Amino acid sequence: MNKEWSEKNTEIQKLLGKESTYKDGIDLLINFRNELFEQITFIVNGFPREAFSRMPFAGTDGYHSMTLAYSIWHIFRIEDIAAHTLINNDEQILFTNDFLKNIGSPIITTGNELQGEDIAEFSEKLDINSLYEYAKAVMLSTNDILTKLEYPQLKRRFSDSDKDRLISSECVSTDENAEWLIDYWCGKDVRGLIKMPFCRHWIMHIEAMQRIKNKLCKIARKGVDPVAYCGFSCNHCFLGEWCGSCRTEYNTCSFATCFPDKKCPNVTCCKEKGFDGCYECAEIESCHKGFYIEGNDGANAAKAQAVFIKKYGKKAFLKAHDKLHEKYDFSKTQEILGQDMYEGLKLFEDTYSDNG
Ligand code: SF4
Ligand code: SF4
Repeated sequence: MNKEWSEKNTEIQKLLGKESTYKDGIDLLINFRNELFEQITFIVNGFPREAFSRMPFAGTDGYHSMTLAYSIWHIFRIEDIAAHTLINNDEQILFTNDFLKNIGSPIITTGNELQGEDIAEFSEKLDINSLYEYAKAVMLSTNDILTKLEYPQLKRRFSDSDKDRLISSECVSTDENAEWLIDYWCGKDVRGLIKMPFCRHWIMHIEAMQRIKNKLCKIARKGVDPVAYCGFSCNHCFLGEWCGSCRTEYNTCSFATCFPDKKCPNVTCCKEKGFDGCYECAEIESCHKGFYIEGNDGANAAKAQAVFIKKYGKKAFLKAHDKLHEKYDFSKTQEILGQDMYEGLKLFEDTYSDNG
């Protein structure tokens, strides 16, 4: 498990365990849930729709063997059922505001009964934007429930009538892969539900989602030109593990994702001008568009690399990068190439020719 997330989870559970620190625990839990939800937002905003039904780890064991869409559905169906049918005894969020109709899901269950290819087929049917809106509404609703819960209520256990209500909701499949959830949830107290469906369960599935999306990026980059439009090398980029390259639909470059259309202005400009990259442009040295905007920490390092490609070509560029990485320990190229384009270019050239 992600070490930082695991430590936060431990801290939260510790705080929730004592009446004197309970409210601090709830505050920390809600902040943590918001932080984890940002990961889902990032994926929904940054990845093409086809990514949500792909199973790059199909056939393996673990949550990462599922899809991105299934993971979101599953996390928030479980939370919705536990929060509303069990704890609050009121209407689940799925049955409000046309969520079910808009998502287009053929099931109302948690999805535990789905296996293998069924998961991919199910995922293809879901409208991802509506699913995201549903997930957000469930999160906010649960946050509200958590805020109102008082410490003595944590010890509340579930009765036979709670269990009957859960069964008659038909939100848990009678399939053997799903039915166990009923006894599992009803065997816990409210605190137990906060611990698992509202926190740890998120961590495990969101971690799995990260593995899925990173793998999809890796697959997307296979066979694709590793030189980015701006002059960076995707093969040597510190974001390379989770970015699918600005030459694919899996582009999650942190600069591009700052724009509402998720398109890097340099990529758009190159495409408009019919350039393979900014290194083909006569204006490269004076350009301040997109990533080259004045004040951007990496602008001159990127331009230095683009000018290098202009002078020596991509093959030499990638070789120079290998040498730069052998010689120096760094993550962002600007840490080595600095803030002056010509000095950066000189250092890159010297490294390439082994004079540096
Ligand atoms: S951030 Fe840019 S250089 Fe890095 S992997 Fe993505 S497209 Fe390539
Ligand atoms: S004008 Fe700037 S952003 Fe556009 S292709 Fe030329 S160098 Fe790239």
